[in-house]
Amino acid sequence: MKVLACLLLFVSGVACAAEADYALARAALIDELELYARQAHGRDDIRIDGPALAAMARVKRHKLVPASERRFAYRNRPLPIGYGQTISQPYIVALMTELIEPDGDDVVLEVGTGSGYQAAVLAELVKHVYSIEIIAALAIRAEQDLRELGYQNITTRLGDGYYGWEEHGPFDAIVVTAAATHVPPPLIAQLKPGGRMVIPVGSRFMTQQLLLLEKTDKGEVITRQIAPVRFVPLTGEH
Ligand code: SAM
Repeated sequence: MKVLACLLLFVSGVACAAEADYALARAALIDELELYARQAHGRDDIRIDGPALAAMARVKRHKLVPASERRFAYRNRPLPIGYGQTISQPYIVALMTELIEPDGDDVVLEVGTGSGYQAAVLAELVKHVYSIEIIAALAIRAEQDLRELGYQNITTRLGDGYYGWEEHGPFDAIVVTAAATHVPPPLIAQLKPGGRMVIPVGSRFMTQQLLLLEKTDKGEVITRQIAPVRFVPLTGEH
């Protein structure tokens, strides 16, 4: 009995130490992103010094990547998550999050749940996140992982995000995390007047442009090119 108790204490001690190491690595990543953001853009319209980094300082990215990738979880780079897909580079997650200007009352749609990381970052900042994933195994895993992390304001589903999620729209913001050849018209329709959408658009297997779309109160759409990016393609029947 005593041996078992000691063993349990030892195992939980090791787990605590590992969590402390991850917390240190996470804090170091946030410092690195702050610096990187200042160097990467000399543009007034791209600022990464606000809520996104504060949210990312709270989200346990190591819990959302496969065990084999965990030791790299707090490096500023994309990582494989299986099925030919990736969890986005933290800097890009920060950029996309800042670009939609998240607000505590917002309801946001994400297309491309993947690991669930971007959804978790958004969920730290907005009222509710709806997220769609087209690969069943990823959708199931992300749902489980996000539940285990305690996120109650994220709803996920399996499906083709090209068509959005009409019953929960219109959305204050839409974040598309896979590269489209064009901006899906159903997503524009499901964006509220005054809403913002970030989406990588361009050729499937080369560099794309990250676009920021803003729908005016009159329903006009203003599009700006933000930065060259590289995402896996938006797939599906469309
Ligand atoms: N946001 C994810 C994260 O934080 O881990 C990263 C997403 S990964 C770069 C792109 C994801 O989009 C993949 O998981 C892919 O299966 C998914 N995807 C591709 N086409 C899709 C579609 N039409 N509808 C929904 N998800 C799609």
